[in-house]
Amino acid sequence: MEITTPDTLGSWQTDPQVLDAELERAYQYGMDARGEGRVATYIPELARADEDAFGIAVMTKDGTTICRGDASTRFTIQSVSKVVSLAMALKRFGSQEVFSRVLMEPSGDSFSSIIKLDTVSNLPYNPLINAGAMQMIGLLATECGFDDLLDYTRRMCMDDDIDLNEAVYQSETDTGDRNRAIAYLLKSKDVLPADPEEVLDLYFKMCSLNVNAVSLAGLGLTLANDGQNPLTGEHLLSPRNTRCVNSIMFTCGMYDRSGEFGVRVGIPSKSGVGGGITCSVRGRLGIGSYGPALDDRGNSVAGFAALEYLSRALHLHAFDYHPYIEDGAEA
Ligand code: GLN
Repeated sequence: MEITTPDTLGSWQTDPQVLDAELERAYQYGMDARGEGRVATYIPELARADEDAFGIAVMTKDGTTICRGDASTRFTIQSVSKVVSLAMALKRFGSQEVFSRVLMEPSGDSFSSIIKLDTVSNLPYNPLINAGAMQMIGLLATECGFDDLLDYTRRMCMDDDIDLNEAVYQSETDTGDRNRAIAYLLKSKDVLPADPEEVLDLYFKMCSLNVNAVSLAGLGLTLANDGQNPLTGEHLLSPRNTRCVNSIMFTCGMYDRSGEFGVRVGIPSKSGVGGGITCSVRGRLGIGSYGPALDDRGNSVAGFAALEYLSRALHLHAFDYHPYIEDGAEA
């Protein structure tokens, strides 16, 4: 993708018009990319999504929310919920207990892969693949029920309207044999903290929560703000645990495309096969997007393209350089 961007460094923070104009351009990049992807069909209910849909929302610390396109369309959170499960497990059990149940390495394999779990390691590679998320949900299941997880999700996303999509939940339950295989493999290794059927049911429910791009911007903003809701002041996760979540999102959040996303976009993010992406721009912004046409790894193609544009235009990359350095510094 050829991207030409104006030098907006700094000005967007004080000038909402700049943010608004750049979001419009990002939206157009996303719209142009939609045709390169396909909606997920392996969960039959997800196949009903509109492949042409795309929306994006940006939220700033003063609560300003700017949206484009289908930003209020509801869809299921899917793997973005793994961020919430990780955060809640860290909050309730602490990092020592959490990382005695899961590793913190990118797997390089697809999100539902079983191969390394069977042949290389007794513990899942990270909490953002299916096996790792089940470990987190297993821990949580020893103390909490679905209502507690739903409540925490709503608060992390700053969205009280998040609820269960019964049709998707049913569809996941009916077709989730691969996830059953993962849960029972974990049980066979004696590492799953709770009963596999209980874990699977909670896992399917967490994947089936209805969110929109604005909810995912809210989640990103909480994580960008050291775990505190900047509007209410509520502390939802300690700064240390928030740093941990952002780090794992950076290295593992975009499935087996996390490395490429890290280079091209450079923002801690998490995608889901429902088409959602949440991004946490440290100390500055939360971004959420919805585009159900996915690449071959399960990431929204429109979301990826729009975020790449925004990252470049607004200098959001974690390792960004000052634009002046670019002149004549070819080496
Ligand atoms: N519910 C989906 C599954 O378990 C979530 C996967 C995803 O979003 N990558 O297959």
